[in-house]
Amino acid sequence: MPEPETTPTDWSAAAAALRPDPRPWIGGRRVEVDTGRGFRSENPATGATVAELPCCGAADIEAAVRSARTAFESGAWSQLSPRERGRKVRAFAEQVRAHAQELALLDTLEMGMPIANALGDMQEAGGHVEAIAEMADKLLDEVIPNDPSAWVLNIREPHGVVGAITPWNFPAYIGISKVLPALAVGNSVVLKPSEIASLSCLKLGELAAAAGIPDGVFNIVPGLGGEAGAALALHKDVDVLTFTGSTATGRRLLEFSGQSNMKRLILECGGKSPQIVFPDVADLDRIAEAIVGGITFNTGQVCVAGSRLLVHRSIADALVARVVERARAVEPGDPLQESTGFGPLASRGQLERVRSHVAAATEQGAAMLLDGTPASAGGACFWSPTVFADVTPGMRVAQEEIFGPVLSVMTFDSEDEAVSIANGTIYGLTATVWTADLGRALRLARRISAGAVTIGADPTGGRVDATTGAFEPHRQSGLGVEGGLGGLRSFTRLKSVTFKP
Ligand code: NAD
Repeated sequence: MPEPETTPTDWSAAAAALRPDPRPWIGGRRVEVDTGRGFRSENPATGATVAELPCCGAADIEAAVRSARTAFESGAWSQLSPRERGRKVRAFAEQVRAHAQELALLDTLEMGMPIANALGDMQEAGGHVEAIAEMADKLLDEVIPNDPSAWVLNIREPHGVVGAITPWNFPAYIGISKVLPALAVGNSVVLKPSEIASLSCLKLGELAAAAGIPDGVFNIVPGLGGEAGAALALHKDVDVLTFTGSTATGRRLLEFSGQSNMKRLILECGGKSPQIVFPDVADLDRIAEAIVGGITFNTGQVCVAGSRLLVHRSIADALVARVVERARAVEPGDPLQESTGFGPLASRGQLERVRSHVAAATEQGAAMLLDGTPASAGGACFWSPTVFADVTPGMRVAQEEIFGPVLSVMTFDSEDEAVSIANGTIYGLTATVWTADLGRALRLARRISAGAVTIGADPTGGRVDATTGAFEPHRQSGLGVEGGLGGLRSFTRLKSVTFKP
């Protein structure tokens, strides 16, 4: 059992004492790379440099893929019994718990997530990995009973080398939850984390080694998307690419697969999730609370954020007044204070993206009920909750993913109209329906095009429970299954074996 860390009382002091290692992890150790070029990660709460990282490229990706392939072919991991792999995955969960504070602090520094949320994320990640460990030996093969003179088996085997490309919004959590299912079923992995926040993911290699996962099975290479990410996506010896990020990048990865080796893709991309509120609901205060939580958690930088409020015209004024009042009370704070619940946006690029979407909404005629523009943020990336009413479904603010604390309010008069607006974007990630009418709830659960539909529960944070439920995005929110046993199955392929004496 690894030693637990002692909890810092002063997170700023703990941050100042950190010496994060920016080097890639290949073949079970940190390696020196001489790329001649680097990139900087920046603390969005202060503008200060957190680390200088190497711009790894095709040669480093090549070394990592070779290391992963050699480890896979050796059988040291791929041929281990699933139960034994499960034990080591559980040991990895213990490592995550033991290093939760360092992982959380790295994410807070690089992308501004409040430290209390980042710590919560690592608790959740530990539980998620434990669940994966329990599932490792539960993928049962099948015997097909169609020929009494033969045994026809459908067996599942690991693909080989899995590439993983991750975003910055939950850096360590998404890194862990993408990689561990692939490892649990015997694959080797090369992970390319986001250039905005790579340090927590780079730390995961050491945790894997301490958990007894053999050298070369898990490799991590930092770098820019268009360089290291593209090299991984175009590599001909990568069998599967699992990706979380924007729909635009997801589309590029489909092209790269076609241009290289038709590698399988699992894509978890963007969303513009609706919150649909019918007039039969009882408690508008609770719903307003949940809606504000859903658009302000992680400063709105959540793929499943409920960024479109669709409310029945008869209750729109009453609900929107409550939403605005609560959103106005959400104050940005220093992410290194444990009392802070709302931090800055993750980067200057993200700040500019939010600013331009807000300007476009105003230009297109949406009514700004709450202005989140910061008075003066210095070098920091703060932006407060912003609410637009009089939004029509065709406006950019109703169609495009903003990835910030910006809520668009639209009204409807009938169930059909609500469904039509809800389904009227390119996305189909999640949706929440607030109604007391069970028949309506069941109808909408089927009619709404989304990978996950929540009926009247608190969507704060909105994250799908990936430990138990499998999830498959609709339309341009992605493709392939993540979460639960289905998520493990995504990292295996089916083989038919016939015994016919
Ligand atoms: P992004 O697409 O810009 O980057 C994601 C990753 O892809 C990064 O590691 C980046 O370096 C890499 N990348 C960028 N261009 C590339 C290229 N040409 N080739 C290969 N790799 C490339 O996304 P982001 O801004 O980091 O993250 C925000 C997006 O992630 C949002 O759209 C959000 O909805 C989505 N997201 C989705 C989920 C989900 O489960 N569906 C979860 C979290 C985030």
